[in-house]
Amino acid sequence: MLTAERIDGTEQRMNSIVKGLSGFALVCTLSPSASAFETQYHLQLCNQTLKSLGYGPVAISEIADSDAGVDANTEIAAAHFDSEAFEGGSIRITKEFEQALIHLEHGRAGQARIEIGRALHAVQDFFSHSNFVANRGVADEIDFFSLQNPGRDVACNPVTQKGELTSGYYPQGARPWPWKCTHQEINKDTSKRPFHDLGMQAAAIHTTAFMKKFESAFLARISDKKSARALLNSFKRL
Ligand SMILES: [Zn+2]
Repeated sequence: MLTAERIDGTEQRMNSIVKGLSGFALVCTLSPSASAFETQYHLQLCNQTLKSLGYGPVAISEIADSDAGVDANTEIAAAHFDSEAFEGGSIRITKEFEQALIHLEHGRAGQARIEIGRALHAVQDFFSHSNFVANRGVADEIDFFSLQNPGRDVACNPVTQKGELTSGYYPQGARPWPWKCTHQEINKDTSKRPFHDLGMQAAAIHTTAFMKKFESAFLARISDKKSARALLNSFKRL
């Protein structure tokens, strides 16, 4: 039986394997996942959004590698907002966000970048694996810290994707009831999938918003504002 600790341990080992790989090497090493925005899209989203927020190239690379590295383990539904695991996804994001704040507060900027990269992976996958963009505006507010699972009776339309918030079940064939969608039916992981462009737009907007929220939360947390700014600079500008 997998306990939370064992899952975390596995992830840490996977992350340490992936750590150090970046850019082209990472794209070549991780085969495109069947359950996520393909690796290239996670890297693209991090590069595009973090650069515009003033992050340096090494900081961007470390956060992007951590983000993309989450796809080394596609079995944890909450890490990718698969299988309607919205509540679990929120718990993970909250934990990673808090851990990143604590690491940075203690001067461990590298560990903070790893944690925030993991959280960004789920934020970005949310728009690829749920039906959010089919029903809402790409910039509409969404609270990643308190999502709830849809009920058993919430149906998923695999064509229009209209309806209450839901996501696709992974792996293929794992659908618990016939009125739910499989991941294959509603994902927006590649440019060939319906709603992919909207998913990417939303993921970019909400990646930016999430990082701004992290920076604000950090500055609000530290009473010595000069130290807080110096630590945030060490996090952003390698
Ligand atoms: Zn994923």
